[in-house]
Amino acid sequence: MPLGRITPNRRTLLGSAAALLAAPVLLKGATAEAKAPLLGPQATTFYRFRLGEFEITNILDASVMIDGPWPIVGEDRPAAEVEQLMQANLLPPKRFRPGFTPTLVNTGSQLILFDTGNGEAGFVPPPVGGWLAKALGPAGFTPEQVDVVVLTHAHPDHMGGLLTGGKPAFPNARYVIGEKEYAYWKSGTSDSAPKDSNTYKSGQMFRTYVQPLSESMSFLKSEGEVATGIRAVEAHGHTPGHLAFHIESNGKRLLLWGDCAHHEVASLAKPEWHALFDMDKEQGAATRKRIYDMAATERIAVAAYHTSFPSVGFVERDGTAYRWLPVTYQLEL
Ligand SMILES: [Zn+2]
Repeated sequence: MPLGRITPNRRTLLGSAAALLAAPVLLKGATAEAKAPLLGPQATTFYRFRLGEFEITNILDASVMIDGPWPIVGEDRPAAEVEQLMQANLLPPKRFRPGFTPTLVNTGSQLILFDTGNGEAGFVPPPVGGWLAKALGPAGFTPEQVDVVVLTHAHPDHMGGLLTGGKPAFPNARYVIGEKEYAYWKSGTSDSAPKDSNTYKSGQMFRTYVQPLSESMSFLKSEGEVATGIRAVEAHGHTPGHLAFHIESNGKRLLLWGDCAHHEVASLAKPEWHALFDMDKEQGAATRKRIYDMAATERIAVAAYHTSFPSVGFVERDGTAYRWLPVTYQLEL
């Protein structure tokens, strides 16, 4: 093509390319020292998307590197097998950073919070966790705006944010929990678990954090409805009454699965591996397979509490196993 026919656009492109090439020359003689201070680790604490008429905001409650994923995932397997799976997926073999990600659903008429994070006394307390209450502001909310708080289950990293300084952190909210979950923890059965176990500690915390709120609490059956478009999905095993939730608006759907995965690679690749924090190991494994299969078959977005923030993705079938596909731009269309 003769030069005379180069379009203005191409001329502009050539011009900017020339400017880029010239840049190092212009910088000659300038100091190479960084003047700006180093800012330390960066954490984005909220992620928002539309789901039909609903608006969903995921909020990061904690960020900490811990030992694992073995034995948190694969406690019935040799550590080396889990470490090998991590290395095959370009992840550190012995350290990982779980997500702790409560989800806010604004239905247009109600603001519904799923799980409350670690609070002051959960697995990951301040300063590296228990961020939810403070992270609401930057995400555009106040604690007073929350109408409903739903608990997927009563473990410290999900119920710990119910109270701040001994008072309800969401002063205008009513509460929802699975009927079976509430009955189990209320029964006191967990008091006979070893005192250093997660089950024993959860039972103690339940008495302070959940039971006193029971007057403004409703108890869901396994397929019960939280609000129009939001219903529970039975996901027992991690705890006796653990629930997932199916959220739908205008044909757009989201599966919020609570603790159906503790690691986005290991839990999905090996759903049959036992999970340290599952109270019923076999039921937990069966639930993982069923829930992953549902997500993969129906190709719906998933809000997955313990996967890496923003803890939203999709599930792909991989032979007899599954694979987590973190969200990119799919939900922004
Ligand atoms: Zn959890």
